[in-house]
Amino acid sequence: MKYPQVRNYIGGGFAAASLPEIDVFDPSAGTVISRVPISGANELNAAVTAAKKAFPAWSAMPIKQRVQVFFRYKRLLEHHIDELAALISEENGKLMSEARAEVEKAAELCEFACSLPQIATGEVLEVSRGVECRVERFPLGVVAGIAPFNFPNMVPHWSIPNAIALGNCFILKPSELVPLSAGRIAELLAEAGLPSGVFQVVHGGRDVVEAICDHPDISAISFVGSTKIAKAVYRRATHNLKRCLALGGAKNHLIVMPDADKEMAASNIIASMSGCAGQRCMAASVMVAVSATDHVIARMTEIAKAMVPGKDIGPVISAEAKARIVGYINEAEANGAKVLVDGRKTVVAGRELGYFLGPTIIDHVKADMKIAQEEVFGPVLAIVRADDVDQAIAIENASPYGNAASVYTESGGVARKVMERANAGMVGVNVGVPVPREPFSFGGWNESRFGVGDITGKGSIEFWTQSKKMTTKWNREAGTNWMS
Ligand code: NAD
Repeated sequence: MKYPQVRNYIGGGFAAASLPEIDVFDPSAGTVISRVPISGANELNAAVTAAKKAFPAWSAMPIKQRVQVFFRYKRLLEHHIDELAALISEENGKLMSEARAEVEKAAELCEFACSLPQIATGEVLEVSRGVECRVERFPLGVVAGIAPFNFPNMVPHWSIPNAIALGNCFILKPSELVPLSAGRIAELLAEAGLPSGVFQVVHGGRDVVEAICDHPDISAISFVGSTKIAKAVYRRATHNLKRCLALGGAKNHLIVMPDADKEMAASNIIASMSGCAGQRCMAASVMVAVSATDHVIARMTEIAKAMVPGKDIGPVISAEAKARIVGYINEAEANGAKVLVDGRKTVVAGRELGYFLGPTIIDHVKADMKIAQEEVFGPVLAIVRADDVDQAIAIENASPYGNAASVYTESGGVARKVMERANAGMVGVNVGVPVPREPFSFGGWNESRFGVGDITGKGSIEFWTQSKKMTTKWNREAGTNWMS
């Protein structure tokens, strides 16, 4: 094995424990590179105990002092970017360029946390003569984040810097498919000066997630993953009266109008559907081609056919994921859809056991086919034809998901119409991956997000804190009135 056994990070160090383990694979080679422990309630309890011990001192520190850790940590992320990207690339399979982008985004998330002292200030007003009301934000205590496999480094950073800078102690449960990055995150946070117990990692799967939802001393949970598990986690956490924000799966529609700039639309759409092997919750999944758009589709086909698997597109996460994705393509083809670019038979020389799939474009998909409705989560684009923008919007609106939607057009009026009417939390115009960058918050609608608010940016301040309303009067002359 290339890497030693993965271990939990509890109370400022890696914990030795004899726990059941599962293999960790390198998806581009299909080989085992490490093993990850499958923790349960005992390991979680140990982490919660350490977090509770750390909380009083950490939360009492002024926020300006707390964020100094993230100034230093951001520099460490930048300094170690090659090593961190290599780790991501090995455990997840994504290309080094994509892995580096993930670390750069993690650094940007830290940059936002460093700005929290400027924007998470309290409020004060003299509400009656001599009577002052003030609102201050307080951390919640011990909180947890549960992460998916597709961004082993960036998605944990959606929660870590803000939750911790706002004074909480944070327990991360990484995806058991990609557990390696979390250990380096813990080491670098410690190197940046974060006290023991403020950030911890507990590895595992369903059991430890359920223990997190049930633990009486965990106040809030951020979850990112599939809709099915997001619903289960949201239900269980809120049943236990916890604050929970659970981001789920996606089915993102890109509407292409006949007046779209051909080159920009074609290159963006292929980048969106194939980047990270289509395993992004913001990836283009359905293209709604409005009337005369064959010229754009022809150009997309050229670009996709020129891509070299293993160089321009990485593998998907597992053999099971590959089989599932191929199943969707087979079924669509059997039901009359036309495969324009076929990635099913992809083999990369020297990495024959890797889980590679080439970019796949399928035209004349009907809106009621499974491939147009369910999350495929691979480098596959289903093209559904529409006569006009209203029909295209209706197709998008029918999806139960609501993460992202985009429109390609040169018309401001059409763009505005789609921005207003798309049933999604993040909408783009001539942008294939409309991720709002800091300080704007990330968050979808409908079955792509359960709970109130967004996970990053300003939206996260409300989630990771509680406000205390204080009313004070120091001068006796202020007297007494009906409000004070
Ligand atoms: P997943 O739902 O399988 O796993 C997510 C987390 O839940 C993991 O940590 C996993 O260990 C845990 N888990 C798995 N099964 C569980 C169970 N039965 N009970 C409790 N916990 C369980 O998701 P994934 O396959 O790792 O990630 C891909 C999914 O994540 C896609 O659906 C993608 O769209 C979604 N995603 C969404 C966003 C977003 O912002 N909305 C971002 C990234 C990924």
